[in-house]
Amino acid sequence: MNLNNIRIVLVNTSHPGNIGGVARAMKNMGLSRLYLVEPRQFPDEQADWRAASAADVLDTAVVTESLEEAIADCQFVVGTSARGRRISWPLLDPRQCAERMALASNDEQVAVLFGREDRGLTNDELKLCNLHLNIPTSEDYSSLNLAMAVQVVCYELRMLLNSPLLPKTEDEEWDTPFTTGENMERFYSHLEETLTDIEFLDPAAPRQLMVRLRRLYSRVRLDEMELNILRGILTETQKWVSKSKKKLPK
Ligand code: SAH
Repeated sequence: MNLNNIRIVLVNTSHPGNIGGVARAMKNMGLSRLYLVEPRQFPDEQADWRAASAADVLDTAVVTESLEEAIADCQFVVGTSARGRRISWPLLDPRQCAERMALASNDEQVAVLFGREDRGLTNDELKLCNLHLNIPTSEDYSSLNLAMAVQVVCYELRMLLNSPLLPKTEDEEWDTPFTTGENMERFYSHLEETLTDIEFLDPAAPRQLMVRLRRLYSRVRLDEMELNILRGILTETQKWVSKSKKKLPK
């Protein structure tokens, strides 16, 4: 595990003070890569003030216009959430999640996403993730301040880094690199298109089919070769569909 490959992504943060608090929490624990997706107010004096001696984390923060852009090159993405959602994703606490993140090799990119102060992450944003993280809390009040939630997650990563139990990376015995979020998004579009072509998916009544398929594939984590095979199968399927449509009597 390499903390330099783990990025903290804040989505649509409202209060610049929280951005500063996050920068400080990260630097205290040895993380430095902050991504800000459409922050409402940044740069800002309040962010600088709350960051204290972590101004460098703010200075090097990457601001993006979309979440997809912020995680395009990531092989593993974790979404944080204060409450359960309708279709439940694999859900881990910060300690279990740190162990899972530690399986990433030194050249893999990992992202942890944090949501808006008022509404958290949307269901569509959570669907981009391999797994979800929930910080256990009192039942009476489950929503932590944004910077405090980041602190808890970064602390667990730090503890694991110091631990003799640090797990072996997942790809030590693997022959092909795991694929990125960007390639997975292309695959999902291709899959959806093909399932529509073969009339397995009805665009007028898609139900939760694509969400369930996303959940299935995000559980296994595909490598580059496996992804190419699946894309190849989809391309051939589409060819056969268009051939057989041409043959149909008019
Ligand atoms: N009302 C929002 C909570 C937003 S708190 C909701 O129901 O989702 C802002 C962000 O802090 C969340 O999007 C999440 O990234 C993080 N956070 C707060 N409490 C958390 C918890 N108990 N577990 C995991 N993440 C949490």
